[in-house]
Formats: sequence, C-alpha cells, structure tokens
Amino acid sequence: MISKPNFNKAEQTAINLLREGKFTELPIKVKEIANIFNNLKIRPYTWFAKKRGLSLEEVCLFAESEEGCCYYQKKNHKYLILYNDNIANPGRRRWTIAHEIGHYVLKHNELTNKTILSRSSLSNDEYKTFEKEADCFARSLLAPSSILYALRKFNAQDISKWFDLSMLAAVNVLKFFNKGVSLGRRHNPNDPLVKKFENYIFNINNARRCHRCKHNFISAVSNYCPVCCSKKITNKRVETNMKYDGYELDEYGRAIKCPRCRNEEITGGNYCKICGVDVINRCNNIGMDWNGNPVVICNEIAEGNARYCISCGHKTTFFENGLLIPWDEEYKHGKKQEHKSYLEHLDEEAEQEAEMEHEQEKERHHDLMMMAMAKTLELE
Ligand SMILES: [Zn+2]
Ligand SMILES: [Zn+2]
Ligand SMILES: [Zn+2]
Ligand SMILES: [Zn+2]
Repeated sequence: MISKPNFNKAEQTAINLLREGKFTELPIKVKEIANIFNNLKIRPYTWFAKKRGLSLEEVCLFAESEEGCCYYQKKNHKYLILYNDNIANPGRRRWTIAHEIGHYVLKHNELTNKTILSRSSLSNDEYKTFEKEADCFARSLLAPSSILYALRKFNAQDISKWFDLSMLAAVNVLKFFNKGVSLGRRHNPNDPLVKKFENYIFNINNARRCHRCKHNFISAVSNYCPVCCSKKITNKRVETNMKYDGYELDEYGRAIKCPRCRNEEITGGNYCKICGVDVINRCNNIGMDWNGNPVVICNEIAEGNARYCISCGHKTTFFENGLLIPWDEEYKHGKKQEHKSYLEHLDEEAEQEAEMEHEQEKERHHDLMMMAMAKTLELE
C-alpha cells in the first residue's frame, strides 16, 4: 500500500537521468529519453489509432486519458508511452511525455501490477500519490531546480520560454521554486547540473537587448550597444528577429575570410596578407600623450558585426574601414527582410506538410499490404 508521495526520490531520479544522459542542451528533448532504455517506446496517439484501427476517441478511452498514458506489457517487460499529439500546445505535450516517463522510471505499473495506471484501476490514494510523483519528476526533468537557482530574476513567462513549457506548467514550476526559496534553498555553483549546463545559464543571464536598434547580444560586461552605440541596454529577455550582418570569426576574434578581399588564407597575424586590412575587429580608441605620441586607450576585441566597442563606445576597426554599414541602414532593410522571411517560412511549412502526408500515405499502404497478407495466410 503506497500512501505518501516520495518527492525526493522523484526529483533525484530526474536529476540522475539528466546527469548521466547525453544531454548537452536545454530544453531537454523528451522523446529522446526513449533511446536510453531498451524496453521503452514513445509514440503519439495517432500512430496507435492507425495501428489498431481505432478512432482518436477510442484511443483516449483505451488510455483513460486525453493527455497520455504509460502502458506496461508484463509478459515481455516492455513499456509503451502514448501521448495525445492532437494537443496543440507543444509545451503541454512535452509535460505529458515527461510525466509518463516519470511513471515508467518510478516503476508505478510494476509496483501495483497494472498494465495501465488510471483512476479506475487504482485506489484513490495510490492514484494521487503516483500523479504527484510523476509531476514532480516532470518538473525536475524539464526545469531542474538547481538550474533555476542559478538563473537571475525571472517570471513564469521566462520559464515557459527557456524550458519550452506551457504557461500553466511554468506557473507550477515557479510556485515550487518560490516555496523552495522560502524554505532556504539557494544557488549552489558546484551543483553538477549547473556545471553541465553552464553555457546555457551564462547565455540566459547575460542576454542583452538594445532599445534603439533592437540588437540582441550576449555580454557579461557592456556599457554600449555594439551595433548602434546606444547606452540604453536592458537585460530584459525579449528577443526580436533583428539580426545584423557581420563576419564569421574564429575563437581568437580573427575573421575566417578577409572581410575586404575574401582571401581565405588567414594564418594568424592582424592584417590580411593580400589587401592589408585588419582581420580582427577591435576597438580603435587611440589617443595622444603629452608629447603627442599615440597611446592605445582601448583595443578590446569585438564581435563580427560590432560597429562600436561595448566598453568605451569608440568605433571598431571593421566599421572605420567601411566593412560594416551604419546600423540604421541595415535596420530599415532588416524590416523588409523580416516580412520576406515570413513569406518564405509559410512556403516551407506547406512543403513539410505535403511531405508528411506522403509519408503517412506510404505507411497506410504498408499496413494494408500487411493486413492483406495476414488474411491470405489465415485462408491457407
Ligand atoms: Zn499520470
Ligand atoms: Zn543598439
Ligand atoms: Zn584582404
Ligand atoms: Zn573600447
């Protein structure tokens, strides 16, 4: 008889999965978890409906849920997680899958010897306990507490965006987080998950956006926008589609191809061997000392699309050499581009849909063939 949810176990199981699995980025791709276990499959309701010749309503009845279920086949110790792919909100689908994986890894079916866990097959207490544990698991898998503690200031909307959750789930995560804070839980920089996803955390904590030119960039220290030199920079994480063109750089800040003559033989050094232009975009803030000799005031290395130095606001070498156009010209152009790419995006979607239909048609044909073959065998 199981009566009390074991939250600690549920959370720890999710954390171990994240630590051991080959996850390198967030949000976690939940369906890929099936690859870790050899007795687990994750499939959508529509797949199951087609396979069994059922309507979607019948699948919901079979699963006893509109969201998803964890189906256990005792005789060969296999699991099938089904999720309702007709639910439009992708965050909600992710939560459902994570929740069902919770039932799987916490072995709820095996503990109670049930093929399907449902309100009707379990006692009220058991059902509630399992549901709470599976939700705790889902929350810890999709939005791990230790990572939340490492992030600065956020609201439910941020959580929803960063971890690809529905707003409802994000509110639930935030409530749980706030409760933890009130109980004295704090950020631990040495937590293995914080270390594992430190790039993700850094990028979120240092995301900046310029009010004037709408440029998004990542920087731990910046006084000026690198594109338009405005000082009005916020760390409010509202992303825009404005992307300023620039040059691709290597890890030392050197252009991969010469920004002027496109020569690819850049073998170190600060200048192009062919045309002599600076191949490193850096702050070009040079002043004069009392004797009239030039002194370098700032020569910080900048991004490939930076017109200005983020520290002192002086022009960069690429901009001074005319290799980048003034930001406002590109801004006007970018607005037109945005509309064009939106139209292209619509075309792409239509293409993908057609492709999917074709695949489904092929599968349907295959199923019919199999059925016909089975029939023939029966007759013989
Ligand atoms: Zn459940
Ligand atoms: Zn700007
Ligand atoms: Zn050159
Ligand atoms: Zn500078």
